[in-house]
Amino acid sequence: MYSMRTIEDIRNQFPALGQSVYGKPLVYLDNGATSQKPQCVIDLVDKMHNGANANVHRAMHKLSDDATSLYEGAREKVREFINAPARENIIFTSGTTASINLVAYSYCKKFLKEGDHVVVSSDSHHSNIVPWQMACESAGASLKVIPVLEDGQWDMEAFRAIPMEKVRIIAVEHISNVLGIVNPVKEVIETAHAHGVPVLVDGAQGIVHAKVDVQELDCDFYVFSGHKIYATTGSGVLYGKRELLEAMPPYMGGGDMVDTVTFEKTTYAPLPLKFEAGTPNFIAQASLAPALEFAQSLREGEIARVIEAEEEKIIAYLREELLKIEGCRIYGDPAVVGEKLSGRKIPLFSFTIERCFPSDLAQLLDKMGVAVRTGLMCCEPLMTRFGVTSMVRASFLPYNTLQEAEHFIASLHRAVRMLR
Ligand code: PMP
Repeated sequence: MYSMRTIEDIRNQFPALGQSVYGKPLVYLDNGATSQKPQCVIDLVDKMHNGANANVHRAMHKLSDDATSLYEGAREKVREFINAPARENIIFTSGTTASINLVAYSYCKKFLKEGDHVVVSSDSHHSNIVPWQMACESAGASLKVIPVLEDGQWDMEAFRAIPMEKVRIIAVEHISNVLGIVNPVKEVIETAHAHGVPVLVDGAQGIVHAKVDVQELDCDFYVFSGHKIYATTGSGVLYGKRELLEAMPPYMGGGDMVDTVTFEKTTYAPLPLKFEAGTPNFIAQASLAPALEFAQSLREGEIARVIEAEEEKIIAYLREELLKIEGCRIYGDPAVVGEKLSGRKIPLFSFTIERCFPSDLAQLLDKMGVAVRTGLMCCEPLMTRFGVTSMVRASFLPYNTLQEAEHFIASLHRAVRMLR
């Protein structure tokens, strides 16, 4: 479908990458926050706005039929991409945050009781902390945390020491948006299941950088956002095991999620619509189909090897060059503290540099055309764990090049010189 043989061929699919900012060629390294969009996604969105625009599942007319086919076609694409058993396992939401809130509200409403525990990993994004805290608060339950070691890996001994009797659910990061290492989620799932405890995996970063097979992983829930994997904003997925989704009460009430409604009693639509009240963001959800097809095409054949080789070069280069900067500390890279990494490091580096405020660095980099992320990155407890209030993060996708990494490092040196 796509004839992409080089990184340049991939870049050519992304109109936004060709722009200049402040007269400088854009070097976009904020992919952990959101990805740029390939032409196939832009075309689909245009096509729907220009034609196949009608509400889904509702009307007996051609346009609604077309929109419904695109919406449901995207559900099938998601199912295939993560190897879910059936379309009933795939709930469309507005993103990772909405998916986690759905489970935290609905699962916990039914299964979480006073004195129970919910376990989260301490590298969690706020969206994998706060919804559970809210659920715990209303149930009278409490949160337990899997700590992160100095090298950024989970403290699995501490995890195994958590008594499981009162744990009702575990919610962990597949890949932290700050540390960028693939966590041992399978091990956590096996331990949890030995005690009959379900596990939710936050795959906001995982879906982008790892091959996800939910049946092989045997997770109970897997959640992600479309916008980080080339789809448009407002698309998201909650994968859930059928028996759990069946047992959970609806999250929101409204149109499309009902079977019959009377003033006395309402019965609910079967899965997946039971959890999709109201008009969904059907254009965004439909964009998941070309987006995931595109992502899939990058994982197959010669181009997959080209990307892997470039990523390896970028990781090795950044690790070496960042550490040459006096006072630079990298978070989440066991290699730099001489530890063995049990998972894989993705091309995402969070760091601080002594005597340089992260926000100052980011502002100076921006003026040089380099877009990076700074701040708490929605992970305040993790920042506190490492004794900082802010980091700089450079995160890469397959469309980024080693040359961009080199430009980033040269720009960073200039910024550091200006600040010291
Ligand atoms: N979890 C992780 C690991 C993330 O990186 C993000 C986005 N930064 C989220 C959750 C939240 O995703 P969204 O804002 O798309 O709901």
